[in-house]
Amino acid sequence: MGKQYETVIGLEVHIELSTKTKIFCGCATTFGKGANTQICPVCAGMPGALPVLNRQVVRYALAMGLALNCHVNQLCKFDRKNYFYPDNPQNYQISQLYLPICQDGYLEIPAGAGTKKVRIHELHMEEDAGKLIHDEWADCSLADFNRSGVPLIEIVSEPDMRSADEVIAYLEQLRKIAQYLGISDCRLQEGSMRADVNLSVREVGSSVFGTRTEMKNLNSFKAIMHAIEGERERQIELLEEGKAIIQETRRWDDNKESSRSMRSKEDAKDYRYFPDPDLPPVHIPDAWITELREKQPEFAEHRASRYQAEFGLSESDARQITEYKNLADIFEKTVKLSGNARKTANWLTGETFRLAREKGIALESVSIIPKDFLTFLGEVENGNLNNQAAKKVFEAMLLEGCEPLAYMQEHQLKTVRDTGLLEKTVQDVLAQNPKAVEEFSQGKEKVFGFLVGNVMRQMRGKAAPDEVGKMLREKLAELAK
Ligand code: ADP
Ligand code: MG
Ligand code: ZN
Repeated sequence: MGKQYETVIGLEVHIELSTKTKIFCGCATTFGKGANTQICPVCAGMPGALPVLNRQVVRYALAMGLALNCHVNQLCKFDRKNYFYPDNPQNYQISQLYLPICQDGYLEIPAGAGTKKVRIHELHMEEDAGKLIHDEWADCSLADFNRSGVPLIEIVSEPDMRSADEVIAYLEQLRKIAQYLGISDCRLQEGSMRADVNLSVREVGSSVFGTRTEMKNLNSFKAIMHAIEGERERQIELLEEGKAIIQETRRWDDNKESSRSMRSKEDAKDYRYFPDPDLPPVHIPDAWITELREKQPEFAEHRASRYQAEFGLSESDARQITEYKNLADIFEKTVKLSGNARKTANWLTGETFRLAREKGIALESVSIIPKDFLTFLGEVENGNLNNQAAKKVFEAMLLEGCEPLAYMQEHQLKTVRDTGLLEKTVQDVLAQNPKAVEEFSQGKEKVFGFLVGNVMRQMRGKAAPDEVGKMLREKLAELAK
């Protein structure tokens, strides 16, 4: 039998904080604005410009560190990490090396039937770099510094994860905590959450770690899964051939499903870190720690169990709804108004997830006004909306923020209870389909559905199916006499 290998993974996760302004200047942080419209001498790295620390960044970092059960360094410092790259106009990045704001914590992640603790080595604050755009002109690259100076926290784990599933669970857990704290929207696609994967393999039973590589450029869970699988196999192959693994940084290309070497691994000493002389040490008052501990929100797991106990939701529905804080908030506020947890939950777990997938919208950006949701549920309940029409209204409410009654009116979606019109339509359909009527009279029950469908279509989906069925049976019975 061949040797058995274990994968060992540690993550460095960058999370962009959703403060209004940058970490060391007053520039806005809004995503997707015109290139270089949100810059100033500080974040564009002009000589002599002086950084001023954004208080909110410290509070957000602290809130996250407390949620990750970290020790807080109440005196922390900023250091310069020196390197040249065209997206980094200062030629250094302001980060924290010697005294990060938080360290020595842990995060509990779901694993198998239970949970597992992943130790957090540290959490520190730093500034983001600008962005280079390589393909607009053939012979040059463009630099956009809007992102330069956007606040980041970097969360470094110990090498405690052993599989891609654990890595995804860890990232999901970090994302949920940050979203519940309201400190970041954590979107992998937009780069507001980024993960570098450090991976090594070793023989099962070995007590020492193997040499690791670091993979960057992973911007989806799918890419992370593939990269872990690919790198594990590459390393095992080398070991099986008796070759050494080189400690290096590799770039994963999810299109090619392979990675290539980017550069040999750099060490802290390569960056000539030194304390930033422009920024005084930060002192974190006891009062902030107490206050943020007290203000800690009810996190996803807790809400999920409460939804089961309080509203009788199934475990899977409760989990699905609390996966995203905005959905959980919509759920709770709507249930408070409507009292109908089951129906509210059904629309959230069913149509909401389906629409998000189909239209490619991020679930964390879904919003529904609870009052509108209540109105909508009422219209479904009292039969003014049949299933088909309800889905249309729900979609408009979710995607365009339409008010349900106005939308129903505008698109004439309200179920018709005009029995005169219904009777006439049924009679028309029967007259137009003599063959079906004939077959029905011979006992072919199947054609009944065909007739109902016809009536519904002619009434453009607005009739109540039960009433259509009733009327059809009556008329068919009359014809059979
Ligand atoms: P450096 O400072 O050189 O980047 P660190 O000790 O800070 O190295 O580790 C960086 C990341 O790599 C951490 O997330 C850590 O858990 C992970 N790591 C360290 N050693 C290994 C290993 N042998 N296998 C997998 N991951 C590792
Ligand atoms: Mg490191
Ligand atoms: Zn600025």
